[in-house]
Amino acid sequence: MRYFSIRSLFTGAMFSLWLLVACSTDPVSAPEAQAPPRAGAQVGSSEQTVTLKRAQYLMGTIAEITAVAAHEAMAQEAVTAGFLEIRRLEQLLSTWIETSELSQVNRAAGRERVPVSPETFELLTRAVEMGELTGGAFDITVGPAVRLWKVTEGQRAPSAMELAIAAQYVDYRLIQLDSKNRTVFLSKPGMQIDVGGIGKGYAAERAAAAMQGAGAGGGLVAIAGDFRPFGRRADGTAWPVGLQHPRKRDAVLATLDASDEAVSTSGDYERFFFQNGVRYHHILNPRTLMPARLCQSVTIVAPDATTADALATGVFVMGPVPGLALVERLKLGAVVVDAKGRVTVSSRLRSRVHAAPN
Ligand code: AMP
Ligand code: MG
Repeated sequence: MRYFSIRSLFTGAMFSLWLLVACSTDPVSAPEAQAPPRAGAQVGSSEQTVTLKRAQYLMGTIAEITAVAAHEAMAQEAVTAGFLEIRRLEQLLSTWIETSELSQVNRAAGRERVPVSPETFELLTRAVEMGELTGGAFDITVGPAVRLWKVTEGQRAPSAMELAIAAQYVDYRLIQLDSKNRTVFLSKPGMQIDVGGIGKGYAAERAAAAMQGAGAGGGLVAIAGDFRPFGRRADGTAWPVGLQHPRKRDAVLATLDASDEAVSTSGDYERFFFQNGVRYHHILNPRTLMPARLCQSVTIVAPDATTADALATGVFVMGPVPGLALVERLKLGAVVVDAKGRVTVSSRLRSRVHAAPN
């Protein structure tokens, strides 16, 4: 069994969210160095399939796409369709791209409504729903605080005064979504939306759909810690997903097999720095605008990747007890590692998650 790390290898000293995908005998190619795919027999069928895997740097990280299809041209088409969809969404949603719809929405804060695409509107609608579901633990208006922390470059904690100023702009209930005219309005000047906690899941979800539209019978979209497998691998089995150990770099905490559902992990090891022995990371508690302190990592298994991504971030902030209660109420799955490293698996996942022999 071979493990492929999914997260960017370019992140230098930062530990990244290395969820690891176990790819057993699939004839996959190395990132961008596509070895000619060979046929793999589907279990229980005489049908021949081709498995193709490619990686691209998108949405600030490595996106990896694997497609299983009847022949190579179809597999190529499916992988390309997946990447094109992610790229298209990045252009709409990235706040690093000045011309993106979200950048326009942010610039118009407190001034005017901005008409947006159906995709941007859908994502923001889901994000606001997730804000409600998590009691505000998930809040895409944390943008001004995310900028203050700049955990990757800043390497210093902002002052209490800076955070108090940013706090005035953080409240997802101040996002006005007009579904009739498909417009977005941020009611206060200075507000900034940041979809870092939900956008990759949304993109993975839509990329998987695009791949299916292009004829892939099975596939896996992996954007950093957001995994969206569908169908089966060439040998007829589900897709094994390894959950990164939050404190042991390159080690797997546990594995689970997944298909036609999504697995997302949020962790404090993904982007962080230490100051005076304290770990400061990128998942902020919207109430304090300080890094959330109750978990080391949260994995969510949900029917779609948008929900999984947002809830992984939201449950991380909520903490193990209320977070797991929410997961049980929603009939979803979770693996929560608390601040002391204790692991809790939600009821629906208990028979599916296997601890890795570390
Ligand atoms: P994830 O890796 O999916 O947990 O997303 C983390 C990213 O989401 C951060 O880098 C921020 O851009 C953003 N973020 C941080 N805290 C929150 C929060 N409480 N709610 C929503 N998004 C957040
Ligand atoms: Mg997330």
